[in-house]
Amino acid sequence: MIKLKISLSAMLLALATTLSAQVGPDEVIPRPVRYSVTNGMVPSSMVEDAVVISDDAEFVREIFPLDDFARREAYGIEITPGGITIKAVSDEGIYRARTTLEYMKGMGESLKCCTIFDYPRFRHRGVMFDISRNFRDKDFILKQIDVLASLKMNSLHLHLADDAGWRVEIGSYPELCSRAAYRFGKTWEEWSAGGCHYANRSDAGASGGFLTKEDVRQIVKYAASRHINVIPEIELPGHSAEVLDAYPSLACVDEVGGEPVFSSDVCIGNEATFAFYDAVLGEIIDMFPSEYIHIGGDEASKGSWEKCPRCKERMLKEGLSGVDELQSYMIRRIGKFLSSKGRILLGWDEIMQGGLAAGAAVMSWRGTQNGEEAIRASHDVIMSPNTYCYLDYYQDAPMYCPRAIGGYIPLDKVYSYDPAEGISDISHLLGIQGNLWCEFISSAEQFEYMLYPRAFAIAEIGWSPQEVRSYPDFRRRALSLSKRISKRGYNTFNLEEEFGERPQSKEVVSHMARGCAVKYNIPYSKKYPSTGTDALTDGKQGGWSYSNNAWQGFSSDMDVVVDLGEKKPIHYVGAWFFSCITNWVAFPEKMEISVSDDGSDFRSVYTLRREIDDDNLKGSNYALYGVPISENARYVRVRAVRADKPRHEFLFTDEIVVN
Ligand SMILES: [Zn+2]
Repeated sequence: MIKLKISLSAMLLALATTLSAQVGPDEVIPRPVRYSVTNGMVPSSMVEDAVVISDDAEFVREIFPLDDFARREAYGIEITPGGITIKAVSDEGIYRARTTLEYMKGMGESLKCCTIFDYPRFRHRGVMFDISRNFRDKDFILKQIDVLASLKMNSLHLHLADDAGWRVEIGSYPELCSRAAYRFGKTWEEWSAGGCHYANRSDAGASGGFLTKEDVRQIVKYAASRHINVIPEIELPGHSAEVLDAYPSLACVDEVGGEPVFSSDVCIGNEATFAFYDAVLGEIIDMFPSEYIHIGGDEASKGSWEKCPRCKERMLKEGLSGVDELQSYMIRRIGKFLSSKGRILLGWDEIMQGGLAAGAAVMSWRGTQNGEEAIRASHDVIMSPNTYCYLDYYQDAPMYCPRAIGGYIPLDKVYSYDPAEGISDISHLLGIQGNLWCEFISSAEQFEYMLYPRAFAIAEIGWSPQEVRSYPDFRRRALSLSKRISKRGYNTFNLEEEFGERPQSKEVVSHMARGCAVKYNIPYSKKYPSTGTDALTDGKQGGWSYSNNAWQGFSSDMDVVVDLGEKKPIHYVGAWFFSCITNWVAFPEKMEISVSDDGSDFRSVYTLRREIDDDNLKGSNYALYGVPISENARYVRVRAVRADKPRHEFLFTDEIVVN
């Protein structure tokens, strides 16, 4: 009997192995629009002999109602015991079909007989690589293009210039590479901590690098043969400290001596600035065939423009009402230059400040509302909101991840995003992009760890119709793909070991002050109100990110009084605090507890002090400030005091627990 059992389970195991080796379209990322599985299977090797039909009348009729871009990329596949047929009307469609077949072939030795009909939801499906903060070379980029192509992505945006380094060869301004591409400090963190010093390439200890024109030619060609467009980004007018180090004459000047003023913004009053960008962008256009040229446009500090005599003269002469309009003047001029070359200006959503240049396209990163607004004004928009698409944020519990910039965007959060939500005119919504900023991503391994599997989700959101998407099904496929690319030498995040959201945020904490009124001696931050005056006694605790609406922020010390309703014995007062120094959020250096019977006359009962060592508190951190007391009182006052240190701007807490 026992023997029979063993052989039966062995048979079942063998059967299961055989079944899993038969791959169907339900394994593919991004999930095809529709498919049906029929009887039978064929060996995977048959993929090589797939026959292409480009004029199948029924297929042509079926794709006729689609948008141009979708028609171009649409394909059909029929797998029957007699062979494999691809239907498509363009090289791109044939390529996407072959990608699906190769994907299935990579998973097993035989393919289930099936029919597939597929096309993309959006025309732009991409990722952005920041190779300025920490340089990544040509070979690394080519390696990632292989995965992006297998996900049917069609856009790779390279952030080529920023304060931390210039990363592309420009012949007309050679110092950009011989000087602004090198620095003291191998990683962005070392460079930043050391005072942001640039180096000449030949200096001892210089670190950096850039893509040569030949590197770019190879990247563009490799990507194009996989139907991926490479969008170059040359950041202006802010984030340009490296340009000003190499060419100080492009900086604003002071009011008295006309000496260059240090800032990350180039001078807009100086004609030489425009000559510089015309030349640089001219060479960029020669290197990159992309219709869109990204000019950055984000986070200019604008301070130097207010004082610089040249910028002031420009504002006066052009009738510009302030520095926002001055920035807009520059963006419009650059936009005209690009359009004279047959290209379209693309920029971060700050390019809307002071008026958006005609024909410009916008990448919406500060949430989704700027993108929605640009679409209402009939501009084309790519959605890459930092609430869903920022791949430099933590993807799991911060204590189990390498340091990240902050936030918390796990795979299911990325996947839950629908770019079309809230959009008034879908025809202006070009698509979706995941952004991988690299301040804290210093190695190739960490770069891939942050990118995969979250890039899989970006790809599926961009391609698959909203109604066929399901997270549990996607997660199953993402896990399988992660394992396969890990075997091919990619360092992916291990989804199987995902810890998930902060446990405290999943349960309501029951305590004596729950539901009690809170009086604010200092108001909470209007920017981070959580749910308002009930937030600190509602029993709800925060998640890993302070933006999850349970953490309440204070841009000051915190000073609140909890009214227990009547005099009660109290033996404990505690609160969690959150810190992320890169986001100007810090732990308090002390928490003072005092109690009162009447709400006006308080007696101090405990002061908890904490040494805060910012160097040892990198990334996101959580600390419980819990205090044992033995009092009888109705009112509990909690005062949390910030340290007098740089970046100790905000305090965040989620609940005042009293027992
Ligand atoms: Zn100026």
